[in-house]
Amino acid sequence: MSSNKRKTALITGAGQGIGRGIAVRLARDGYNIAIADINLNNLAEAAQEISALGVRVLKIEADVSSAHDVQHMIQATVDEFESLDVLVNNAGIYPFTPFMDITEEQWDKVIAVNLKSVFLCSQAAARIMPDGSRIIMTSSVASMLGFSGLVHYCASKGGINGLVRALALELAPRQITVNAVAPGSIITPGTSNIDEGSQKATMAKIPLGRLGKPQDIAAAVAFLASEGAGYITGQVLVVDGGWTIQS
Ligand code: NAP
Repeated sequence: MSSNKRKTALITGAGQGIGRGIAVRLARDGYNIAIADINLNNLAEAAQEISALGVRVLKIEADVSSAHDVQHMIQATVDEFESLDVLVNNAGIYPFTPFMDITEEQWDKVIAVNLKSVFLCSQAAARIMPDGSRIIMTSSVASMLGFSGLVHYCASKGGINGLVRALALELAPRQITVNAVAPGSIITPGTSNIDEGSQKATMAKIPLGRLGKPQDIAAAVAFLASEGAGYITGQVLVVDGGWTIQS
C-alpha cells in the first residue's frame, strides 16, 4: 500500500513502554505512525525502531497536558499525513504517594497528564477526524480497583472510563468509536522501580501466571482500531491475565 493511502495512527506517550508497544504493533499493521512524547530521548529511540519496519513515522515532542502542545501535535500529524484515523490516548503517570502526602500540585499534575489530556487530545482530534475513526484510551484496572498510594491515579483512570462512555455517545452519529483498554500489571520502564517482592505478590494473583507485556495491550488496541471492531463503542476492555475476575 502506498504511504498516502494508509490510515494514520497517533499514539501519545509512545516513547517507551505500552505506548511504544502500541506504535510498533500499529506500524506492523500498516498504519502511518505519529508518536508523541514529552521525553525526546525515548521519542528518538521509538522512531528509530518504527522506521526500521519500513513505515513513515513522525515524532512530535508534546506535553499532552498542554492545550498548546496538543493543538500542535494534531496539526503536525495532519500536515504530515493529511488525515488522522486512530488516536491512542496512552500517556500517563503513576507516582506512588500515600494519600496524606499528596500535595495539591501533585494531584493537579496527575489529573492533568492522565485525564485532562484525554479531553484535550480527543477534542482536538475529533475536530478533524473523518467519520468512522477510532479513539482509544489506555485506562487501567486502577479505574475499577483501589490501590494504596494511588488515590490520584485511580481517580484519573476512573474519570477516563466515564469520559469514554459519554464521548462514545456524542461521536456515535459520526461512526467514531470511543473505547479504552484497561491493563493489569504490565512490565514497562515505568514499572521497573517496583520492588521484586511486590511484583511477585502481584504475579501470584494473576490466573494466567505472568505479568503482562506491552504487546498484550497493543494486540487489544489493534483490535479496537480494526474494521472488525466497528460495532464496539463506549467499552473498557480489561487486559489483565484474569487478575480482576476473582472474588
Ligand atoms: P512509562 O513506561 O512510564 O512510559 C510513558 C511514556 O509517556 C514515557 O516516555 C513518559 O516520559 C511519557 N510521558 C509522561 N508524561 C507525559 C506527558 N505529559 N506528555 C507526553 N508524554 C508523557 O509508562 P507505561 O507503564 O508504559 O504506561 C503507559 C500508560 O499505561 C499510562 O497511561 C499508564 O497509566 C497505563 N497503565 C500502565 C500499567 C502498567 O502496569 N505499566 C498498568 C495500567 C495502566 P518520561 O519517561 O519522561 O516520564
